[in-house]
Amino acid sequence: MGSALWHPFSDMAAVREDEFVLERGEDVWVYDTHGNRYLDATAALWYANVGHGRQEIADAAAGQLRTLAGYSIFGDFTNTPARDLANRLAGLAPMPDAKVFLTTGGGEAIDSAVKIARRYHDAQGEPGRVHVISRAQSYHGTNGVGTGVAGIEANRAGFGEFLPSSSRVPYDSVDALRDEILRVGPERVAAFLFEPVVGAGGVLPPPEGYVRGVIDVCHEFGVLAIADAVICGFGRLGTWFGVERWDAEPDLITFAKGVTSGYLPLGGVVAHGRVAEPFWERRGNTLRHGATYSGHPACCAAALANIAILDRERLVERGRIMETVLADALAPLARHPLVAEVRAGLGLLGAVELKAEVLETLPSAIADLALLVRQRGVLLRTLGKALAVSPPLTIQAEQLQEIGLALAVGLDEL
Ligand code: PLP
Repeated sequence: MGSALWHPFSDMAAVREDEFVLERGEDVWVYDTHGNRYLDATAALWYANVGHGRQEIADAAAGQLRTLAGYSIFGDFTNTPARDLANRLAGLAPMPDAKVFLTTGGGEAIDSAVKIARRYHDAQGEPGRVHVISRAQSYHGTNGVGTGVAGIEANRAGFGEFLPSSSRVPYDSVDALRDEILRVGPERVAAFLFEPVVGAGGVLPPPEGYVRGVIDVCHEFGVLAIADAVICGFGRLGTWFGVERWDAEPDLITFAKGVTSGYLPLGGVVAHGRVAEPFWERRGNTLRHGATYSGHPACCAAALANIAILDRERLVERGRIMETVLADALAPLARHPLVAEVRAGLGLLGAVELKAEVLETLPSAIADLALLVRQRGVLLRTLGKALAVSPPLTIQAEQLQEIGLALAVGLDEL
């Protein structure tokens, strides 16, 4: 029987009587309410980086809930897990003298980063810099800013205008960004927002030289470069914040998901010391932005325990070590007659895209394939024309092969 729960991003008329209820998780496995076991090939929604069922994280969160469940950190108030987490993340961030603003998730981190960027320019005497540029196919959550800048057109359609002063550029061209900054007028552009690897828009790795190239263009015109590492961080690309793969130094980094491996909701923004400076050095220049649960101690305690696991088990490095194993496991699918392209080889992140003519003949092909693969005990996510693969970083080589095999059989059945 269906419930009253309204599922995000879901066709409720279709799923209302047919909910898929998960009950328990252990490492790369999850179990439904009938006791069926599934290989979680997408780490839930790209976040269960240390795998499911880690008692250490549950204990850290529970211990904190018993000690001080919550107390907001506005003004001079704070708590020890929030301070410790900020220090830990600042130490890991690929930018000097970093400061950390905490949120409850990725979408709120995006709103925060863009508001910090605009207020930074305002404090520097350039209040006209409000325009935000993002990339086609990008996904930055569904809060106000994330909706306004969405590069996946369908995520903006029907909602009206959320960020009138924004525009999109093709996802693969540094020159297109330069042209757009010049078209809008550099004195009006606040920030460029980009995912190092486009995630929900199809798992699109950047062309050679792209990440460094766009940051250089931003700096040429005084535009802040915001790297959205919500998916790419915490080992997904084999580094802490994704961008280190290109030796890149953005001005702001947004993060969420893998910071707690999803055990509790948490996200945030890491700001370069230079961007934080007007707020940290000038009294009276308050960032009037924040939310009740920023720096929630139980969420921060969960994040610290999660980061300790990533560190101790060398799972961040593992994201890189296993990238070729994933690419090898998916590579044979490229020869399947229904497949247009297999994208993998950069971190534990991949996608299998179907041919356009397959989707024209059978519009439900991607959803059907996901269901066929699920019937073989593997959970995958649909991404427009593709299925995403982003397993926990603890995944073993034979389990990656199992994912490839389930997809091959599913494609044959389709
Ligand atoms: N940014 C990126 C790149 C994401 O993939 C997501 C979510 O998938 C978000 C932001 C939004 O995060 P949240 O869903 O926690 O609001």
